[in-house]
Amino acid sequence: MAGSQRCPDCGSADIVEDAHYSQNQLVCADCGYILTEGLLTHTLTEEGFLQEVRFTDSTGQNESLSKRKLHGMKRVRDLCKVLRLPSTFEDTAVSYYERVFDHASYHLVNIKKKEVLIGCCVYVTCRQHNWPLTMGTICSLIYAGQEKFASIYLRLLQTLKLDVPALSLKDLVMTHCKNFRLFEQSSSVPAHFSEDMQRVVERTLQIVELASETWLVTGRHPIPIITAAAYLAWQSLCPSKRLSCTLHHFCKLANVDMPPPANQRLKEIHAVLLKMASQLPWLSMLNISKKTVVQHVGDILKHRSFLLNKSLHDCAEVTQDNSHAVEAEDPGNLAIAMVGETSEVIHQGDLCKKQNAAKRSFLPPCLMDLKRMRTTTGAAERVFTGEEDISDSEIEQYLRTPREIEEFQQACPWD
Ligand SMILES: [Zn+2]
Repeated sequence: MAGSQRCPDCGSADIVEDAHYSQNQLVCADCGYILTEGLLTHTLTEEGFLQEVRFTDSTGQNESLSKRKLHGMKRVRDLCKVLRLPSTFEDTAVSYYERVFDHASYHLVNIKKKEVLIGCCVYVTCRQHNWPLTMGTICSLIYAGQEKFASIYLRLLQTLKLDVPALSLKDLVMTHCKNFRLFEQSSSVPAHFSEDMQRVVERTLQIVELASETWLVTGRHPIPIITAAAYLAWQSLCPSKRLSCTLHHFCKLANVDMPPPANQRLKEIHAVLLKMASQLPWLSMLNISKKTVVQHVGDILKHRSFLLNKSLHDCAEVTQDNSHAVEAEDPGNLAIAMVGETSEVIHQGDLCKKQNAAKRSFLPPCLMDLKRMRTTTGAAERVFTGEEDISDSEIEQYLRTPREIEEFQQACPWD
């Protein structure tokens, strides 16, 4: 091949192939003119636009990888870029993807799940770096259902034996609040509704912390709680003008989705605030309602650690000096019994004291739901050994009678 070419400089036909630093080039043996140079670019257009070619692309290191794997790695990187994650995350996420890909079970998984796995690798990386990315966000980006995503995510953690810290509420509050479009004036947001972002974030964080301390966060989805807290924070910063604005309207103004449980969470936070307000002497005089408590949110938050300690202390006192038996049949007592983890009966005088303590103590809402509690603590199961006699009549109730057979045949003649 080299012999058919001529040097454009001196016209000599003595062209040789020279491997210079493992790059093959054609060189004129007479004058040293380099006819072709080993390119670090793949195509002429890349060369023309002076595009940077990565080392891995230039060395052919990636060529040993399968197309499928390369595609996946690229998808992981793209996803990180779309989410604007720090560049170090990209490499971690890709390394997880490579590990999953090399795992024997990967090739038994269907293609849809493999796509979800790409999202999972990014999600795990974010969680490990305490980056506040929610499952909902990543699911909407990869068009996956949250249930499916969650099951694959858990399998991934098992397979790679990864450890993931719980989501940091603080970071989540910050990023979620930044999405609210209430911090600059626009045609849809009236002047008295716009608020300084820093103030809202600060107070929202305090309310979320309060909710967390009073058992409203554990086991729940964090976003509805943050939404409710942000609404309350925003209202309480200027109650006179914002009291009439509902949560629904607030979300619409801020241009964020209102997650359905947010209303319930708002009610629960209201209840906690009311309970705390009743313990502050200057507020307990005022006959405060769900609406008016909003004006005192700042005050309550200021004293929250004192109020929480007080209720804990009251609770401990009552359960301590109680050495009598309690019967947990009266719904009011049930919650108290749970607090003290005791099943003894108390005297009438103590009962009153205990009920007061229960009113002041903070329990997870699922423990306050007495209807549900009753069904779960209901009748003890009969114990079967498997040796009992099985009567004919018990078996016969599973067989069709001649009349039922006839009716079934009439209804389904082809069966
Ligand atoms: Zn030449």
